[in-house]
Amino acid sequence: MTSISNCRICPRKCGADRTAGRGRCGAGALPEVSHVMIHHWEEPCISGDPKSERGSGAVFFTHCPLGCVFCQNGKISRPGSRGEEKTPEELSAVFLELQDKGAYNINLVSPTQYTPWLTEAVGLARQNGLTIPVVWNTGGYETPETIASLSGTVDIFLTDFKYCSPYISGKYSSAPEYMSAARDSLKEMYRITGPYVMEKTDGISMMKSGVIIRHLVIPSHRRDSEAVLDVIKDTVPPESVVLSLMAQYTPDFLPAPKRRTGPDPRDDIYRKIRRRITTFEYESVREKAAECGFSGYAQDRSSATKNFTPDF
Ligand code: SF4
Repeated sequence: MTSISNCRICPRKCGADRTAGRGRCGAGALPEVSHVMIHHWEEPCISGDPKSERGSGAVFFTHCPLGCVFCQNGKISRPGSRGEEKTPEELSAVFLELQDKGAYNINLVSPTQYTPWLTEAVGLARQNGLTIPVVWNTGGYETPETIASLSGTVDIFLTDFKYCSPYISGKYSSAPEYMSAARDSLKEMYRITGPYVMEKTDGISMMKSGVIIRHLVIPSHRRDSEAVLDVIKDTVPPESVVLSLMAQYTPDFLPAPKRRTGPDPRDDIYRKIRRRITTFEYESVREKAAECGFSGYAQDRSSATKNFTPDF
């Protein structure tokens, strides 16, 4: 098991002794769960028909190694967040309950900081009858070593690829090395799963194994989005992975501007992303994805709900 007395699970490698306290991300000595649900609004090959009672068996974990300024899950992802502590035995029981409720898969959301406990929990659940695929639903800020440790545990990687530019990833996620970490981890994910495999279940093509790459288009940075697609294309075969373009960016979760006279230094950081994306920005990225030979999903920009439309 990875040492948690000198934690180096994520690229921060902060070296925290998590047996005695919490790391930079806020994670401590046991996984903390924020909530558990049957999720109907992941990509259709993960959640199935949203009108069905079945869906993805999502387990949301607290904390996150990345900490983007615009995070929509800030309430559960920030270092000060707290969830319900669960042992690997307790987690394995949660997974089996979700399977009994008809979940298509076990969807581990923001799992990275709890990797060693989760491999143990999935192993226990498998011994006790878990047969559905396990999904690693991550911000993409991983180390290849951590991803390699998931071989035999995870069937589907549902990973973000957020940025290319070190300047932009430094500005919004304090992670100038994000692109190289995400690229090297993506390579490892694909090495583990190979090309995606779908199987018809309830009349829908559901993913059994493979990699889904999500990219959230953010305002003012369409060129960076296009560069991200180039990096992905050069890292994994576009026709063998699923791309999911996301249009749901909202500035609502950014810290409010400070009430003060004189310039607020944070205005420079947030100014470019304090709006929604435009149709032009989204369509440019969508066209680039098609040019690169990706297929998959593009979130409907005009919809307030998380609707997906197949193919580009
Ligand atoms: S997972 Fe958390 S505690 Fe571990 S290295 Fe990363 S930031 Fe530090």
